[in-house]
Amino acid sequence: MAVRPVRLYGDPVLRQKARPVDAFDETLTQLVEDMIETMHAYRGVGLAGNQVGVLQRVLVIEVPGEKEGESMRLALVNPKLSEPSGQQVEEEGCLSIPGIYEDVKRAREIRVRAQDLQGRPIDLSADGYLARVLQHEVDHLDGVLFLDRLSPLRRQFLRRSLEALARGEMPEGYQPPAAEPR
Ligand code: ZN
Repeated sequence: MAVRPVRLYGDPVLRQKARPVDAFDETLTQLVEDMIETMHAYRGVGLAGNQVGVLQRVLVIEVPGEKEGESMRLALVNPKLSEPSGQQVEEEGCLSIPGIYEDVKRAREIRVRAQDLQGRPIDLSADGYLARVLQHEVDHLDGVLFLDRLSPLRRQFLRRSLEALARGEMPEGYQPPAAEPR
């Protein structure tokens, strides 16, 4: 397992559409293991393939579970969202856009159909925080960032900070974990 560097705002890979996975092999397993380790190292709750520079439809999520101290971890391959319902507005951030947090409107409930690492079907319904993280991560696989879901006014307000990020100027105090080169 290895921590891979998380791609940051301005990297074109974040704007590309990831391709469906058709090989459920050792390379996929390795990718998912690395993504989980990377998510932990960066203290994120989700990570999509694009964010480690891999244009494959793979995402990992780890959110607090129902009981204190428990967590729920998902690794989804070729996820497809359907049946959105309700609405929630909460603050979101993104490992690829350090230092920026904004309220984003999402569906409250969503159904996800995907495959596991062996290609077996997964079908689950999510609500609340898990539903929010799922929508954020599936957006990544389509080259969409949470910034795209803000009002033009909010985007305008963030313009200078985003331009600075795209130039490689990180917010004060930003320190990515050491990534091992592969
Ligand atoms: Zn993100």
